[in-house]
Amino acid sequence: MIRADLHIHTKYSPDASTDPKVLVDRLNAHPTIKAAAITDHNTTEGYLKTKELAKSYPDIIIIPGVEITAIEGEIIILGAEELPPTPWTVRRVIEFARKNNAITIAPHPYRGYGLGNLTKTYQIDAIETLNAITTPEANKTAETLAKTMNLPGVAGSDAHEPDEMWVVYTEIQASPDVSEILGAIKKGAIRPSWTEKSIRF
Ligand SMILES: [Zn+2]
Repeated sequence: MIRADLHIHTKYSPDASTDPKVLVDRLNAHPTIKAAAITDHNTTEGYLKTKELAKSYPDIIIIPGVEITAIEGEIIILGAEELPPTPWTVRRVIEFARKNNAITIAPHPYRGYGLGNLTKTYQIDAIETLNAITTPEANKTAETLAKTMNLPGVAGSDAHEPDEMWVVYTEIQASPDVSEILGAIKKGAIRPSWTEKSIRF
């Protein structure tokens, strides 16, 4: 079983400060969480830097990701190292992900920039039902949405600073391998979880 924080920003997001070096050091030092998806806003540069640094750490896994600001709201792609072609509509982003064996997640659907009830009109692969910087009420509504759509629920810290990382995470029934992890998320062999640091839950 793998424990992964599936939503982390680095300083390559305009609103975040985490240096990729700090990220890999802290992931390496963490006793149980050993995987992280780098989901910067509209760029994979932070992921590429982090992956490069992670080469010297055999025990950690960096999952490629990006949080795309689509016209209708935000959508996360996991598993693609490149950006989808513009214009970024949710439909086109999903199409791109499918073609590239990547998966899509609706992050914090009931917070600002979330897709809200519009999520129901798309063939998304998973819903972020536990986002560490979203209110418990909005996370609850996301959980209900995931149940209604019969989709797996994932957890991500949405950390923009180092101390925000790992407060929530997803338990994934997979071996330490990116494509296995993505497959397990898609088929729902996962469970959102949190640490005592996340007092909001
Ligand atoms: Zn985010």
